[in-house]
Amino acid sequence: MRVLRLLLCLFAGGVCPLGAGESASPVVRIAVVREAPSFDDALRAVCEREYQGAVRVMPVHGHGWAAVNELDVEDYLLGVIGREMSPTSPLEALKAQAVAARTHALFQAISSRERPYDLVANLSQAYRGRTALYKNVVLAIEATRGEVLQYEGLLFPAFFHANCGGRTESAAAIWPISDPFGKGSALKMPGNASCPWCAHSGAAKWTYEIHAAALRKALRAEGISISGPLALRIAERSPNGRVLKVAVGVGKEEKRLSAERLRAILGWSVLKSALFTLERNRLPDGSAGERITFRGSGYGHGVGLCQRGAFGMAKQGADYRAILAHFFPKTRVGVAGLQVAGAP
Ligand SMILES: [Zn+2]
Repeated sequence: MRVLRLLLCLFAGGVCPLGAGESASPVVRIAVVREAPSFDDALRAVCEREYQGAVRVMPVHGHGWAAVNELDVEDYLLGVIGREMSPTSPLEALKAQAVAARTHALFQAISSRERPYDLVANLSQAYRGRTALYKNVVLAIEATRGEVLQYEGLLFPAFFHANCGGRTESAAAIWPISDPFGKGSALKMPGNASCPWCAHSGAAKWTYEIHAAALRKALRAEGISISGPLALRIAERSPNGRVLKVAVGVGKEEKRLSAERLRAILGWSVLKSALFTLERNRLPDGSAGERITFRGSGYGHGVGLCQRGAFGMAKQGADYRAILAHFFPKTRVGVAGLQVAGAP
């Protein structure tokens, strides 16, 4: 089927610095607008920010219109690293973040050529287009230019997160093999790195409370209807203690969902991680219903590089290779290759 692609070069200073195929580094394609109802809506949304490289506005079959920013991966990292990690972080931590983010982006780019874009802005990596430049961010990207992590000699989706809560998790434990993020042998990578550096950050401990009635409503909005008592409880944990499954309802009404799905339903920023315990208590005013209290540690899925841990290791003098070796055991730093883990 012929796919209509309208090329719009929206660029800094009115000059398109890069054309397709002219870049020295691999190009990545970032969906900066998705599922806009019309071409005009997509164009209007994309014009609210500046983007390096080119922007294509295109129809995506069954999903409206998308705006896709195509740019050199090194330029892309300039828009990511200072958002994923404080630009005032130690240089070695920023270098570790740069290598992980480059690896993640190139893995997605190489393994998604059949799709109209490789990454979605702010879904897997924080990206809002052209941003202010910070000295240490530029230095970290330049010092590691072209470097990626390899597992068994291949690219893999090097994940990262804000705060592991004291111990990282294996990808295989929390994402099913069919998950588009989980590819082949990358899922076999061990997690379970200890991380004593998280304990003193703001996300080290958190509490979130919700009334059972509000949870029931939120679940129903996602197609999970429970008649009878809600009775939320933990059904399964990983060997590292992270909640894998929760159960709602009792008896024949029981339904199970993954902790990551529950996080998506309630909000990633309120149910900050799956490393939590649950308490259910009667409402203090004596009325019917329950109040559910989550007490947790960390922020994010816990797989791969712990950003707070990288910060702590760098503060203690570790270089970026030592940081990456700690959080991605059995990997090595190499230059960008063309093969991905899990590819036939
Ligand atoms: Zn950590």
